[in-house]
Amino acid sequence: MTNYCGYMGKVLVLDLTTKKTENYIWTDLDREKYIGGKAMASKILYDNLTGSETPFGPENLIVIATGPLTGTGAPSSNRFDISSLSPLTGITSSSNCGGNFGHYLKKAGLDALIIRGACEELNWVEIDNGEFVFHDAADLQDLKCGETQDTLQKKLNEAHGRQIRCGMVCIGPAGENLVRYASVISGERAAGRAGMGAVFGSKKLKAITAAGDAVPTVFDKEGAAEHRKKWVNYIRSHPLTGDQLPKLGTAGLVSSMQVHGLLSTRNYAKGQFEEFEKVNGETLAEELNVANNGCLSCPIRCTRRVPVEGKTVKGPELETLGLLGGNIENADLEQICRWNYELDELGMDTISAAGTLAWAMEANEKGIWKSGLAFGEREKLSQVFDDIAHRRGIGAELAEGSRRLSKKYGGQDFAIQSKGMELAAYEPRRAVGQGLGYAVANRGGCHLNGGYLVVLEGLGLNIDGQTPRGKADLCMVMQDLMEAISCGGQCLFTSYGVVPGFMIRNPNGLLQRAVNAVVPFAGPAVRVYNKIPEVACFNIPLIPYPTELYYTTGMKMTLGQFTRAGERSYNVERAVNARFGVSAANDKLPKRLTDAPQDPNNPKTKVPLEQMKKTYYRARGWGKNGLPGEKKLRRLGIR
Ligand code: SF4
Repeated sequence: MTNYCGYMGKVLVLDLTTKKTENYIWTDLDREKYIGGKAMASKILYDNLTGSETPFGPENLIVIATGPLTGTGAPSSNRFDISSLSPLTGITSSSNCGGNFGHYLKKAGLDALIIRGACEELNWVEIDNGEFVFHDAADLQDLKCGETQDTLQKKLNEAHGRQIRCGMVCIGPAGENLVRYASVISGERAAGRAGMGAVFGSKKLKAITAAGDAVPTVFDKEGAAEHRKKWVNYIRSHPLTGDQLPKLGTAGLVSSMQVHGLLSTRNYAKGQFEEFEKVNGETLAEELNVANNGCLSCPIRCTRRVPVEGKTVKGPELETLGLLGGNIENADLEQICRWNYELDELGMDTISAAGTLAWAMEANEKGIWKSGLAFGEREKLSQVFDDIAHRRGIGAELAEGSRRLSKKYGGQDFAIQSKGMELAAYEPRRAVGQGLGYAVANRGGCHLNGGYLVVLEGLGLNIDGQTPRGKADLCMVMQDLMEAISCGGQCLFTSYGVVPGFMIRNPNGLLQRAVNAVVPFAGPAVRVYNKIPEVACFNIPLIPYPTELYYTTGMKMTLGQFTRAGERSYNVERAVNARFGVSAANDKLPKRLTDAPQDPNNPKTKVPLEQMKKTYYRARGWGKNGLPGEKKLRRLGIR
């Protein structure tokens, strides 16, 4: 139970081996410290994993967690999180999803579900108003994600004699066959990264459905309504959230990335793709975008819908356009849309699949691993993706990801991954703060978990992407802010609004140029704030999240407390990963990014990682080993 609104006040453990549930104690003090979502999941993993567990062992846990805003109607607040020990990285990881499962999990009466053990045969689990029913899933075996969800909907309707409104998560063939980067799909959205689908597969859990009649309460309905109205108006008037994202989606970033030399090309050998105009957001909008769509309660609606095989399906995001475009030297946009759909249907992360493929193409070219895959290859790839999902032929090897392949065959310098997770499409040698973020990110090579500094280094603001100055402190504060936003249950894309719209509209205005020049020197000031964020005992309109949390839950939340909650989240995830061997030595990038300048005539165009890492650890108050010590964990109230 809880005294706070927004939450359902219930966390359950579901044991797949015994098919029984039990309550998990999660107190209001825990809610105040961790808010919800990924921070809550990380704390649960911290309290339950010892370091001896393996990703595919029954002792591994899956935590599906919502935030207090999930399902309350707050802007873009339908998100939920899946955390577990990742088979791709071997450390804990979280994967955020915009599908409708979180919303319906709360309707079923739960804030979070902790799954342990394993089924003997393939099963799917129905949650109905907090009651759990196990169903044999033999007839769903090898079904793709769309067909799985359609079949489950029919089964539920038939069993209950009426149309059931429910949320679902499921895996496809890739998850069943333990592809290390298999995703979990909810509707058309993916918890794509880190192989959460393979953990489902290892537990022989094909799908979960959730339905119910519970409704999360809102603490101050009038205050919340007024606040949300203003926020939605702001989102709609902002050039990024009200114009670029609705018109072009994340694909709208391709052209800016090209201009700044940030577009991964030919397995990150280059930062510009000559044929980028064939695969950018503008071309997608003009030639293929037939409709817009969005996650529940989202005023941004960034999803493009495109035609594939006679259907209208979710279009590719920027990461997929970059990595299945220039990064494998492909300029066929329709083909990217088709692969994007196929990968979602197979239940496989597009980023890791494409990153592994690019490594294989270069390894083949260099004679390191003769797979027959070549840059520019198009015809064979649909079959290759199917082979990966079913672990057939070279697919069985590609299913292992680029780190394991490069360790086996060589070519580690150009395996574009960190901690085993393939990087997104932002080439960091022209945005070195993003490079630092990729390396230190708790879950591995993730642009968002890394602080997404590329937004300040060319895609929103335009601070010098080549200088390491100030980047470590900015990286930390951005990571913490994004952690806290995510914990509430909101989409990170709302944070584009943190940069005032007039600065985006006038990139060469006097103020913007002044800000761009000054920000790299703001490191010491940012660090002081990072040390005592409680000095911000107020809230500001540009960061509306703490105020929204207050109106929804009744929990008093200042900007400082919100930042601290984000820091706590980041540290608890790091602390649990320390048990699985993570330290400064794992905060690495491939040599291509740290030792080889992108422009051979400009030695600055590489990531000065070791230099920035030292400042970053100091800023975080971590030891030289890159880990939070006992004192730090106590200070944050984690221990
Ligand atoms: S901005 Fe896009 S991804 Fe985020 S909630 Fe809205 S539609 Fe979903």
